[in-house]
Amino acid sequence: MRPTGRFAPSPTGVLHLGNLRTALASWLSAKARGGRWIIRMEDVDGPRCRREHGERQLRDLAALGLESDGPVLWQSERSGEYRETLERLGAQGLLFPCSCSRRDMSLLASAPHAEDGLRPYRGRCREEPWSGLDTALRMRLPEGFVVWEDQILGPQQDDPMALTGDPLLFRRDGVFAYHLAVVVDDGLQEVSEVVRGEDLRSVTATQIRLQEALGLPRPAYAHLGLVTAPDGSRLGKREGALGVAEMQAKGVTVPEIVGWLGWSLGCQERPEPCAAEDLVPRFAWTRVPRGSLVAPEQGAWEG
Ligand code: GLU
Repeated sequence: MRPTGRFAPSPTGVLHLGNLRTALASWLSAKARGGRWIIRMEDVDGPRCRREHGERQLRDLAALGLESDGPVLWQSERSGEYRETLERLGAQGLLFPCSCSRRDMSLLASAPHAEDGLRPYRGRCREEPWSGLDTALRMRLPEGFVVWEDQILGPQQDDPMALTGDPLLFRRDGVFAYHLAVVVDDGLQEVSEVVRGEDLRSVTATQIRLQEALGLPRPAYAHLGLVTAPDGSRLGKREGALGVAEMQAKGVTVPEIVGWLGWSLGCQERPEPCAAEDLVPRFAWTRVPRGSLVAPEQGAWEG
């Protein structure tokens, strides 16, 4: 099977350097192996996601030379597939109805990045029988550790029951969970490599359990360290971090951005301006440094 990488942003704001670094790493890894790279818009999280943010993200990625091989899939258009998958899991006896706290429910559709924290479900109603899609649903997870290999972090093991507990997959009002949408679409799009920020490492074991329940192949994983602002604070799509156009308005050129990202991924010794294509032959996961890194001060771009 042809290697397939993907970048799966949520269109909640502008892509910052950390997001762009993830996009470039997944693109380079796919291209270095002669593979396919696709973009998927993860917009199941209704009110937080906006079409125009997604369009802007696609333009910024294209400015860096990163374009989807094949149509961009928007998750908000895929309720049918998610519904069918839930029916299947329900028929397998793996789902149970649940009445959770409002807070758990409100975060269901968004990827649980660091600031949201993880709250494992304690299993109050896991013996309830599945009765269809007119109620909130969780998947009953098996006990035990999940072991996998991360291309940056090395061997990993987690007990998903301790981290997330039985994951919530559906909300009574018809909203599908992030876990469900990610796993279904990675499977359908035959994604063989998942590259994302280290703040999502802790949901990997839960997503692997869901793949197993659905009989889907397990992709390779690479979790990249986060990029922080020069003052050490977190870069956030929703917190006014600079996007490509804002950096350009400050006099930073696209080759400078790509050059810095390529350097941060171990493809070149100095952050010299270059094009994404130039980095393809120099990319290897073994050279990608671990840990977080600091975005350049404005002056550093100009110096
Ligand atoms: N859509 C998620 C986000 O924007 C990423 C999901 C993933 O890469 O698995 O954070």
